[in-house]
Amino acid sequence: MEEIRFCPVHGFYRGEFCECGKRGELILEKERVERLGRFISGILRHFPDRFGLRMDENGWVDFESLVRVVRRKFKWANRWLIKALIYSDSKGRYEFKDGKIRAKYGHSVEVELNDYPTAEEDTLYYGTSEEEAQRILEVGIKPVNQTFVHLSTTIEKSEEVARLRTDDPIILEIDAKRAREDGIRIVKANEFIALAKEIPPKYIKRMIRL
Ligand SMILES: [Zn+2]
Repeated sequence: MEEIRFCPVHGFYRGEFCECGKRGELILEKERVERLGRFISGILRHFPDRFGLRMDENGWVDFESLVRVVRRKFKWANRWLIKALIYSDSKGRYEFKDGKIRAKYGHSVEVELNDYPTAEEDTLYYGTSEEEAQRILEVGIKPVNQTFVHLSTTIEKSEEVARLRTDDPIILEIDAKRAREDGIRIVKANEFIALAKEIPPKYIKRMIRL
């Protein structure tokens, strides 16, 4: 995790220097970014109920209610710091709209996400280990501890994901076009991530060894 700073020209950013080369004002130290981020993404992905927050079927939670919950836990936090965290997030974890906030991916709560755009990519990628790849060829890609399967829009991103778990990543190439034509819903969470309930084995067209 990187610290959050504020550039008067470019707004909130992560790290020491802004894209313009200036060193902006420190807003939130690394450790607080980490703790605040873990708590907020935890609520929005896994346990809104634990804090009495109402989540609608598409994962939205009232922002002011979330702020109240966060402030009970972190006395130093406020609305402005929470927005700084959300707007400086470079991984596109959150979406903010009309006074509501949601996680864009990573849910383990039951959500529908039927207001997400359809993923238009013809090919998507899933990075995994050799062992898991063999199993997937038989049963398909199914979510583990999550509500959706997370697919990558590029080989590079799928490799990054796989390398978190294995030194010898296997990339599965998915025929998203054909899956879509067959009525399988695949939605776009952000530039690099697409979500599906599951991908049956017949849509895996190639296995790439790196
Ligand atoms: Zn700047």
